[in-house]
Amino acid sequence: MGEESHPLADAHILIVDDDAAIRDSMNEFVELAGYCSCTATSAEEALSILENNTVDVVITDILLPGMDGLELTDHIKKNHEIDVIVMTGYSGDYSYEEAISKGASDFVFKPVRFEELLLRLRRVLKERRLTQERIQMLEKLKRLSITDGLTQLYNSRYFYNQLKIEIDRTTRYQRPLSLLLLDIDSFKQYNDRYGHLEGDKVLIRLGQVIRSCLRKMDSAYRYGGEEFTVILPETEGDEAAKVAERIRAAVETDRFYPQKNSPAVSISISIGVTEFILNEDVAVLVQRADKAMYQSKQAGRNRVSCLFSGKA
Ligand code: GH3
Ligand code: MG
Ligand code: MG
Repeated sequence: MGEESHPLADAHILIVDDDAAIRDSMNEFVELAGYCSCTATSAEEALSILENNTVDVVITDILLPGMDGLELTDHIKKNHEIDVIVMTGYSGDYSYEEAISKGASDFVFKPVRFEELLLRLRRVLKERRLTQERIQMLEKLKRLSITDGLTQLYNSRYFYNQLKIEIDRTTRYQRPLSLLLLDIDSFKQYNDRYGHLEGDKVLIRLGQVIRSCLRKMDSAYRYGGEEFTVILPETEGDEAAKVAERIRAAVETDRFYPQKNSPAVSISISIGVTEFILNEDVAVLVQRADKAMYQSKQAGRNRVSCLFSGKA
C-alpha cells in the first residue's frame, strides 16, 4: 500500500509540555500536517482533557511539573485506548526502555526535529489503524461464525455452546432452565408449491417473529433447515410453555404473499417444550424437546406439547 499523505487525517493529537514555546510550535506544526491538535501544560490537565475528548495520540514531555510523562503514560495505557509518544532530553534520567515498558508507542529526543516527529506520528497512526481494523475483522468473524446467514439468528454450533454454558450455570446455582424446539409444519409442501426462495422468506420472517416473542435473557437459534431452538434461562417449564404458545400464536396469525394477486397464505409451527433435569446429558435434554415436538406433530401440528420428565 502506498504511503498516503495523512493516514488517519482526522486523528486527534494532544501535546503535553510545560514549555510554552515548544508546545505552541509543535501544535502549529501538527495542525499544518493536517491533524487536529490540542495542548496541555501538565499531565493533570492532559488527563482531564482525555476524560471528555476523543484523542488518538498523546505526545508528552517526560519532565513535567507534578505528575511526570512516564506516570502519565502509565495512567493513559491503563485507562484509555490511546497511543503515547514520549519526548525527552539526551541528558535525562529516563531511558527508552522505561518509556516503552510503560506502554509508550515511540520515543523522541529533544530538541525535537519536527520532520522526524511527523514520521513517527504517522507510523504510530498507521499501526493504530491496522490494529483497529484487525480488531473489527476479528469481531466480524466471530459474529459470522455464530450467526445463521439466512435468518440472522444464532447457528446450531453456538446453540450447543450456549446450552452447555447454561446447563453449567443452572447446575451450579440450582436454577430452572427450559428449552423449546420448533419445526415448521408441512414446509416441504410450501417449498414445492411456491418455490425455495419463497420458503426462505418464511424462514427469515420466522426468525423475526420468534425474536419478537422472547424476553431479554432468552436466545433463539436456527437448529436445522426449518427447525429452531430457544434457550430460556431462569425459566420453569410452565412459563416456557407460555412463551411457546405466544410464538405459536404469532406465527399462526402472520400472513405471507408468495404469489402475486393470490390470497394470503399462513403457516404454522409445532413446538416441543421441556425443562432441564439435574445431571442429565445435553443430548438427552435436546432429545426430549424433540420428542415433545414430535408429539405436537402427531397430535395434528400447530400446537405446543410439553415433556417435563424422562417419561412420556
Ligand atoms: P412436518 O410438518 O412433518 O415437519 O413436514 P415438513 O414438510 O415441514 O417436514 P420435512 O422434514 O418433510 O421437510 C422439511 C422441508 O424443509 C424440506 C425442505 O424443503 C425445507 N427446508 C429445509 N431447509 C430449508 C431452507 O433453508 N430453505 C427452504 N426454502 N426450505 C428448507
Ligand atoms: Mg423438520
Ligand atoms: Mg417441518
